[in-house]
Amino acid sequence: MQLIKSNLFNNFSNLTHALTTRHGGVSQKPYDSLNLAWHVGDDAQLVEINHKLLSEELGYDKNSLIHMKQIHSNLVHVVIEEDDFFTPRSCDALITNKKNTPLMVMVADCSPLLFYDDVQKVIAVAHAGRAGAFKNIVKNVVDCFVNEFACEPQNLYVTVGASIGVCCYEVGQEVYDEACAIGLEYTVRKKENRYYLDVTKILQSQLLECGVKKENLEISDECTSCKNESYFSYRKSGVTGRFAGLLMIK
Ligand SMILES: [Zn+2]
Repeated sequence: MQLIKSNLFNNFSNLTHALTTRHGGVSQKPYDSLNLAWHVGDDAQLVEINHKLLSEELGYDKNSLIHMKQIHSNLVHVVIEEDDFFTPRSCDALITNKKNTPLMVMVADCSPLLFYDDVQKVIAVAHAGRAGAFKNIVKNVVDCFVNEFACEPQNLYVTVGASIGVCCYEVGQEVYDEACAIGLEYTVRKKENRYYLDVTKILQSQLLECGVKKENLEISDECTSCKNESYFSYRKSGVTGRFAGLLMIK
């Protein structure tokens, strides 16, 4: 199984984390092979096996995993006792201080974000594409660390996995107009009358604005569409699987 580890998060021996790639699972084309999402048309039994394989590789109980029904919102859910593997909440971020409770975000072009506060021992994962970035889900996650868990933003470590790059994320005039209206014009690149959006740049500035230290931030520069052999890309392939970011306190 090909997993990507964060240099930042590798420093914490009490954490289990990974960013998955499309390699190492059992799903067939066009979900080959480590598709972790059920809603994309893949055989549910194969998705289940992929989850089993990942849990064995990383050493957690498959059914202890908390994932989400992601809806391109800025909603953050604080994990409670009733949450389980089989009934994911509709939200785009999860946060917890519970041990042995792996959190997962699934993506194919959107950004997977992993957060950790080593002082209060709190983790979060978040899903942010254009919509989540425009709605500033990052701020809601950081606010939740502060308000619900008494964390300080300068103690947060954040890693952001591969997403569609400004090289490949062409957007229409209406998205450009919307970006301008909320002060994000600087994140749109214009080339031959076409517009390209840099979501990663938005997330980075939002994280810094929230008080996350630059040296505690690690952002992948890999583009899921350019590197479609490693990652699922919705823009590139249409019907495809989802890879994931996973984080757990041991
Ligand atoms: Zn690209």
